[in-house]
Amino acid sequence: MVIIKLTKRQDEILQIVKKNGPITGKEIAERLSVSRAALRPDLAILTMSGNLDARPRVGYFYNEQFAVKRQAEKYLHQKVTNFKAHPIVVEKSTSVYDAIVQLFLEDVGTLYAVDLEGHLAGVVSRKDLLRAAIGNQNLQELPVSVIMTRMPNIVTIFPEETLYEAAKKMINYHVDSLPVVKEVDKQSNTYLLVGRITKTTITRAYLELMEEKVD
Ligand code: ADP
Repeated sequence: MVIIKLTKRQDEILQIVKKNGPITGKEIAERLSVSRAALRPDLAILTMSGNLDARPRVGYFYNEQFAVKRQAEKYLHQKVTNFKAHPIVVEKSTSVYDAIVQLFLEDVGTLYAVDLEGHLAGVVSRKDLLRAAIGNQNLQELPVSVIMTRMPNIVTIFPEETLYEAAKKMINYHVDSLPVVKEVDKQSNTYLLVGRITKTTITRAYLELMEEKVD
């Protein structure tokens, strides 16, 4: 699907047809106080691009299905940076016990472990913590660094990537969240943690899309 960027006039026409369709070219021209001839190129563009349907002797219709696709396309192209949440971080020597407490306090499903320089070192999920808790009596002595998923096995996302990329990665790698990172040194897998994208982020963006808050 090719989405064209509409001009202000084309957008006005679209709104008029959306509200009043089916409506003739003559009526649209009257509402905009312009001649029919002046409107012709815009109506041609809107019809050819699929935004409007035209029926002879009836007039122009708003193409509802196209509008949904248009919104979906916008949604998929949203940048991670505009939707990322604050990452919940623990230092990698933090005990599993304290990490569990942190998980409850922050009401999240995943913690990110960082080293002393603040670089991303690992991911600690609910299941990692549960696994460690089963049969282990000494959670206060066990550092999260022992149980976390560590670099280079962490699936990350960059702020300038899209929500679509993020959703695809979470599904393909079977994970609930992605740390949003900025590269410090690729060779040594050194990344600065700047946010998180979770399945909730995607659900929230979807809701905003359905309520037409995404522009
Ligand atoms: P949960 O454990 O609550 O089901 P996940 O499905 O996200 O949460 O985690 C499953 C496993 O994948 C855990 O071992 C976790 O450490 C690991 N994991 C989670 N997120 C990532 C990620 N972004 N990259 C690599 N591994 C991850």
